[in-house]
Amino acid sequence: MKDYAIAAIPADGIGPEVITAGVEVLHALAQRQGDMRFSVHTFEWGSDYYKTHGVMMPEDGLEQLKAFDAIYFGAVGAPDVPDHITLWGLRLPICQGFDQYANVRPTKILPGIQSPLRKAVPGTLDWVIVRENSEGEYSGHGGRAHRGLPEEVGTEVAIFTRTGVTRIMRYAFRLAQTRPRKLLTVVTKSNAQRHGMVMWDEIAAEVAREFPDVTWDKMLVDAMTVRMTLHPESLDTIVATNLHADILSDLAGALAGSLGVAPTANIDPERRFPSMFEPIHGSAFDITGKGIANPVASFWTAAQMLEHLGEGEAAIRLMTAVERVCAEGIMTPDVGGTANTREVTQAVIRAIAEG
Ligand code: NAD
Ligand code: MN
Repeated sequence: MKDYAIAAIPADGIGPEVITAGVEVLHALAQRQGDMRFSVHTFEWGSDYYKTHGVMMPEDGLEQLKAFDAIYFGAVGAPDVPDHITLWGLRLPICQGFDQYANVRPTKILPGIQSPLRKAVPGTLDWVIVRENSEGEYSGHGGRAHRGLPEEVGTEVAIFTRTGVTRIMRYAFRLAQTRPRKLLTVVTKSNAQRHGMVMWDEIAAEVAREFPDVTWDKMLVDAMTVRMTLHPESLDTIVATNLHADILSDLAGALAGSLGVAPTANIDPERRFPSMFEPIHGSAFDITGKGIANPVASFWTAAQMLEHLGEGEAAIRLMTAVERVCAEGIMTPDVGGTANTREVTQAVIRAIAEG
């Protein structure tokens, strides 16, 4: 019997609603599998913790998380706490402290969910976006001078290192190699940005030589938005910088039908530290406490977690159950259904037991 130690950090807004649902589903799955169990420890960190302690997590937070096999994260963000505090106080320190440099975002149209693309059906769009998660435009370098004066200057410096670009490129090629089509698109803006972006192109070509069985091409990020919209079936695995992939994956989520179903994994491919699994969406103040948050993104990311833990069969069982429930039309209002979080969760648990 394998026993996985999971650190749950539900945090803010609908985070606790979807993580509670996800943990229930994980336990149901373990019972169905019969050969595994999950020991879940919940950390009450986030904006409420901040309001009493002045920090989003304790100083030794990362130390406490180190012993776990994986981190299952909800969302951060509260109406009365500035976003840069919640983000830089909890989520980013975990990503950076544990060097989770590969952010993996699968997107596909689930059965029963309507894409805004007129002709899209399940199968038209089946992508994995790999986002560089440790440097680039979000490295935090830059500054402001002459504040408030007409000559004020603000800089936002993107840092790309050979080590950082090579490792994310290898990760993306390796992932592309495991997918049936073995297709990778490398996204940059190397026509206008001629330093770090040209380096991306060069390193892509170098790494490509290690993966002769992967077919790859290059796209500029602006043209990429057009290709994603007009020719979604031409894409498979995609790798892009921190900023570019951030934007492209929101577009991907929308094209697949809703932010409420989009998952993401923050992976340390070298497995020195626990990786972190979360829905892409935020804390969604507008629906918090109403019981209608879509739990599908948190189920899908749980499947990513299982795959990372080497439980591929359990991951497939979970996604099969989720897709079956979507196909039956048991969905929350954000994707056109009338069910609530509880009903979707119960339906998935039932499908797991029967599947
Ligand atoms: P959001 O993702 O919270 O919500 C955007 C819209 O999508 C809202 O209308 C919301 O109701 C809907 N939505 C999101 N998830 C849903 C779900 N599971 N089911 C049904 N509907 C869903 O984005 P926002 O409104 O821009 O941000 C709200 C807060 O969340 C902000 O404080 C922001 O900083 C934070 N945020 C956090 C993360 C994160 O923790 N990773 C990500 C994005 C935003
Ligand atoms: Mn984003």
